[in-house]
Amino acid sequence: MSDIDILVSEVGPRDGLQSIDAILPTEVKNAWIRAQAEAGFREIEVGSFVPPRVLPQMADTADVVREALLVDGLNVAVLVPNLRGAENAIRAGAHKISIPFSVSETHSLKNVRRGHDQMIEEVKNIAALVGEQESPPHFEAGLSTAFGCTIEGPVSEDLVVRSAERLMDAGVAEVGLSDTTGYANPEQVKRLVRKVQAAVGKENITGVHLHNTRGLGLANALAAIEEGITTVDSSLGGIGGCPFAPGASGNIVTEDLVFMLEAMGLKTGIDIDKLLSVRNILKDALPDEPLYGFVPDAGLPKGFTGHRKSEQQ
Ligand code: ZN
Repeated sequence: MSDIDILVSEVGPRDGLQSIDAILPTEVKNAWIRAQAEAGFREIEVGSFVPPRVLPQMADTADVVREALLVDGLNVAVLVPNLRGAENAIRAGAHKISIPFSVSETHSLKNVRRGHDQMIEEVKNIAALVGEQESPPHFEAGLSTAFGCTIEGPVSEDLVVRSAERLMDAGVAEVGLSDTTGYANPEQVKRLVRKVQAAVGKENITGVHLHNTRGLGLANALAAIEEGITTVDSSLGGIGGCPFAPGASGNIVTEDLVFMLEAMGLKTGIDIDKLLSVRNILKDALPDEPLYGFVPDAGLPKGFTGHRKSEQQ
């Protein structure tokens, strides 16, 4: 990714869709992923290998992965909750697999019915499986609830750091910080990124996963970037908004994030006009679902050209 400064990793097909009730047909998911790759996206989290009875929205993930693998140059990422999910992801051929590790143990027990020690065992088993592959996927762990938990409240920063160390020792290639609950603020993001960098090495934490629940998503993204983070997750139209906070988007809005980065002179490799038109796919397929974002509503500033365009002139 030397020709870009920041990798915007689209997670809408996973995080966005799993948070809404509507089930997007497989063909629409495929069209969405293809259109966004054509707009210049290099990494898309296309689904999650969870049991269909838990998340019926993700039941077609293996098919979506297979189709996404046909898109030239696209890094196909998926989420896996456990070893079984990792086996399915590897069988489908995903390039990158991420496992969420909830730093709040209460949250972990409630969500995946596993405590920290059991999760570390699971990660070790997945790492062993990954190691056996001829062309192994990139295996990452996301430190979810790192900035606070809806059950426990504040989460200890020391515990975040210790969890990052344990996960690296258990065999992941990288850890990321996730603001699952939308509790983070920029100062906290900076501090925690620095602490985890110091513990596991800068090269082993390159990404953040942020939510815009309280409107601080872009500020938090910028704070992370200022500390050296180079991969930022976001979702098209910020879909998957919090049902308890009307008007609050889910993940940070991809369109607004790309606009901020390109306007600041940071290369994303993304054609923002093409990106804005990808929204129509979601608008048509999910007419009852709110789509968020300021740039799509307000339009681009007069004379605005992203990097890609100015380079082509
Ligand atoms: Zn999320």
